[in-house]
Amino acid sequence: MKVAVYSTKPYEREYLTRANQGKHQLLFLEASLTTDTVMLAQNCRTVCCFVNDQLHAEVLKRLWDQGVRFIALRCTGFNQVDLPTARALGLVIARVPEYSPHAIAEHTLGLILMLNRHLHRAHYRIRENDYSLNGLLGFDLVGKTVAILGTGAIGSVFARIMLGMGCRVIAYDPCPSDDLAEQGVVYKALDELWASADIVSLHCPLTPVNYHMIDQTVLEQMKQGVMLINTSRGALVDTRAVIAGLKSGQIGYLGLDVYEEEGGLFFEDYSLQLLQDDVFARLLTFPNVVITGHQAFFTHEALTTIGDTTIANISHYEQDQLAQVHLVD
Ligand code: NAD
Repeated sequence: MKVAVYSTKPYEREYLTRANQGKHQLLFLEASLTTDTVMLAQNCRTVCCFVNDQLHAEVLKRLWDQGVRFIALRCTGFNQVDLPTARALGLVIARVPEYSPHAIAEHTLGLILMLNRHLHRAHYRIRENDYSLNGLLGFDLVGKTVAILGTGAIGSVFARIMLGMGCRVIAYDPCPSDDLAEQGVVYKALDELWASADIVSLHCPLTPVNYHMIDQTVLEQMKQGVMLINTSRGALVDTRAVIAGLKSGQIGYLGLDVYEEEGGLFFEDYSLQLLQDDVFARLLTFPNVVITGHQAFFTHEALTTIGDTTIANISHYEQDQLAQVHLVD
């Protein structure tokens, strides 16, 4: 099958090519999918997309008109897809439901340790021949309360990691896990979660209901100096409210791997250009903010599984074995 693979970088071509073993004709495109690039998928029945490809109504209709019938997402989240339009058209959408929850959970721990022990600042201090410790005082994680929103694949691995660090783990999920509860995770109602948490970490999908779930009202209910971590999707957080929280000291530490306006910014090298996003630029001014560019998934193990599952989804679709395709439901 001929597949237009949008937004590809050299590092993932390697994994997709290895998984493909010549089964499908993969047309690797550097361009992301937008209304301007939709025609690049001409003569393809399948397109393969990543997190910041635009799969809104107009793009979906044009893909359909061109003969595209199957969209293989090579990511877990599917908030970038206008699902009602896709369903109305009859497009089949697949995703990679779980590739390495450990990759994202371990990256989350990395952000926490970096912020808590000021490792980002310590690294540069030593390089400047400055061995002073002023301003680098951290706190022990043991005994601290970590609130987790969403205890699915990633949140549950993260919960176990934090239990292993000796933290008290509290959580909210509309579908709580008995297994985690037995291991010591205490499920609470959402409004009971904020006040006691030293660290809040987001691991739920972005849906219309969850949009800006962390807003000014919620931030005001959190502990003064709370650490907020988002490795899930940028728009779960109202960035302007977070900036106000950082300025007032309500938020003591912020770790982000995702940003609500990351499309057109993350995954690209703009080091020779001026940053145009003033909100993002403001975030970069805070010493207690650490941002990575949507790289939590970026491990050898995760890319291997993403490649294998994506190619398997395409093959099963081609062979009319829909029961074996990881469909977005
Ligand atoms: P999952 O579907 O296994 O788990 C999500 C959990 O969130 C489910 O248990 C669900 O019941 C729960 N949930 C839904 N709405 C909620 C709400 N309002 N409050 C609390 N919990 C809620 O998904 P996953 O594999 O654990 O991935 C979680 C998210 O992580 C994805 O949706 C994606 O946005 C993000 N992600 C980020 C990266 C990255 O590189 N930064 C990589 C993969 C996934």
